[in-house]
Amino acid sequence: MQSKNYFKMGLLFLIIFILLIPTSSSSLIESKYDILTYNNFKSCVSPKIQEILEKINETLVLGFLKELVEIGPRKTGTYGAQAAAEYIKDQFEKMQINSEFHYWESFGNQYNPRYFKCKNVIGTQYGIDEEKDEVIIFNAHYDTAANTVGANDDGSGTAAVLAAAYVLSQYDFRRTMKFVTFSGEEEGLLGSRAYADYLYRNDTDILVEFNADMIGRATTYESGHSLGLSITEDAGWIADIICNISSNYDFNFNITRSGPMNRFATRGGSDYYHFILYGYESISFWPGEWDPNMHKPTDDLSNINISYLVNMTRHIVGTMATLGDEEIPVPRVSIANPKHGEIYFKDFLIKNFRLDKTIVINKILIRPEVILGNTPIIKVEYYYDDKLQHIDWEKPYVWWLNETSIRRHKIKVIAYDENGNSSTDEIRFFYWNILKNR
Ligand SMILES: [Zn+2]
Repeated sequence: MQSKNYFKMGLLFLIIFILLIPTSSSSLIESKYDILTYNNFKSCVSPKIQEILEKINETLVLGFLKELVEIGPRKTGTYGAQAAAEYIKDQFEKMQINSEFHYWESFGNQYNPRYFKCKNVIGTQYGIDEEKDEVIIFNAHYDTAANTVGANDDGSGTAAVLAAAYVLSQYDFRRTMKFVTFSGEEEGLLGSRAYADYLYRNDTDILVEFNADMIGRATTYESGHSLGLSITEDAGWIADIICNISSNYDFNFNITRSGPMNRFATRGGSDYYHFILYGYESISFWPGEWDPNMHKPTDDLSNINISYLVNMTRHIVGTMATLGDEEIPVPRVSIANPKHGEIYFKDFLIKNFRLDKTIVINKILIRPEVILGNTPIIKVEYYYDDKLQHIDWEKPYVWWLNETSIRRHKIKVIAYDENGNSSTDEIRFFYWNILKNR
């Protein structure tokens, strides 16, 4: 047998070994520690945003929601889902923004092991400043469970995405905005998995992803003025903007923050999940109360509090409009090498593997990419399983990982700027390195 075959066999055993490792099922939100917030970002009342918020009204949002609900149940793979996808694409075309289908096919998950084929619908409004290449994403899912028209789950979020696109497309922004509606959510987040993977493989810089799922139900005064946010580690300053929108434009919602989201959780509750798995920043918007009609025929228009849905939509749209133009005060770091879902040998990429499984054999160069906030970076720290290993004070910010290992490890990178703001990215991979550097 040639040495090449030994290597192939070793790799095969390695893959089998990794697939057999039980993954711990940890809860998605760890609320033990606080989210970082940045006081140097103060938004004030702006006439442009005031005007945008006034254009988001009941007629607009209810119009989209009614037309979606009239299609009937929109279960992935059925005629209803097909009709909804075409309806949404038509709407984006009427708004004269770029509209496209993103096709995907996939097996479900361990709870739903069937084969699915469907499409996401994406509207893109390009930013007018070519240097601002970080994209703002707002997404919801247009598919439903069987036997329900899904007015709240997730007709509400889909109507919000369409209303956002309708109003924001009437203005120019420096940054690009993507209005995304997924299918396959109810079958195991399949559409969003394929799309997050597509964006990641194409090196898309995403400033933040907003997820809205079931944002239309409020039956009491209290819940009608409540909004929950689940936030990734570095998105606290964006949550600050949401709070500012609420107070500056007199919505005065009671906003509850939870996070940071656990990027290594084994399951997710909605389409944000694969974005955070890839290291993107994300904020999910949740209503103030649970919906007992979820996945039931009773989730129809009578389940919707339209003024609440309009105000939830306004919070999201006002935040998008702010982010669309503002200078970003904080640095953004992302690990560019190694990447998620790939196999490396001595720092060479061997194979594109599977989205959430990364394998590193022998040594590897840990290389973060840093986008500056409003001040320069002073240092970058490198952690191996939460233990500080190296501090880099100068460009290029890199660190060779070359430890003995035959198991899974976590690498975390933190960049600090002169204002004391920081940004984090982390990646977990199976690390095979029996003989240290030669
Ligand atoms: Zn849903």
